[in-house]
Amino acid sequence: MIVTRFAPSPTGYLHLGHAFSALFAWRRAREVGGRFLLRLEDIDPTRCRPEYAAAILEDLAWLGLDWDGELRIQSQHLADYRAALDQLAARDLLFPCFCTRADIQRSAAAPHTPDGSPLYPGTCRKLTATERAARIAAGIPHAQRLDMQRALACVSTRLTFEEDAEGSLSCYPERFGDVVLARKDAPASYHLCVTHDDALQGVTLVTRGADLKRATDLHRLLQSLMHWPAPRYAHHGLLTDDTGRRLAKRDSAATLRGLREAGQTPEQVRALIAAVRTN
Ligand SMILES: [Zn+2]
Repeated sequence: MIVTRFAPSPTGYLHLGHAFSALFAWRRAREVGGRFLLRLEDIDPTRCRPEYAAAILEDLAWLGLDWDGELRIQSQHLADYRAALDQLAARDLLFPCFCTRADIQRSAAAPHTPDGSPLYPGTCRKLTATERAARIAAGIPHAQRLDMQRALACVSTRLTFEEDAEGSLSCYPERFGDVVLARKDAPASYHLCVTHDDALQGVTLVTRGADLKRATDLHRLLQSLMHWPAPRYAHHGLLTDDTGRRLAKRDSAATLRGLREAGQTPEQVRALIAAVRTN
């Protein structure tokens, strides 16, 4: 049984790129009688808004996508992510990081991680238990980072993942360094929540844009550490406009809402998505 999912963040209206991704996952499930799940990744209180969550459900229904089972809303399950973090902490795989963004930028002549953030120089990893306790007691806000070296030591072999049409690919999670798993301003990171939920919901085929392909290296590490099953992956190209530029949120004309208000039917929008280019 194939189980796929679409997992948008309610930070704006769905645009054609989202619709392409949703249809991709929906079709992969529906063409073999599998299940298609919907999840809202809304744990970032600084960016997500309830009105966008409602709009996502409405726009998907308008487009004709039906989903199975209950909608999962991540902000309603924070205790789940806390429990996963606690398990990692109990194995001494996390450490508190008190650095500000500016601290890290300053010390980062270093390379960047595959998701574009500066590679963490390891500053707070070197703090003693007493220093950590004192800073926490003083109320200094902190994130929680994965101790990458310790995490890698828990994994005996080079991890791989199964990519559709490509086969087995090797993972290099060390490129992410001591990645943040719980932010100062959000209870858990995207990487932790997405792998947790894919495991919990029994997703067997993770479909998403190629911009997230390298994150899979890190996701496989988290799955291995947490003893979660490894799904298969199918990363698809990203939609571009006529000039080959990637579609982004700022292109308001390309939102499903905008197209609908301009008088397009769901059939026309689906035809438009089938005809667009990806790279
Ligand atoms: Zn730090």
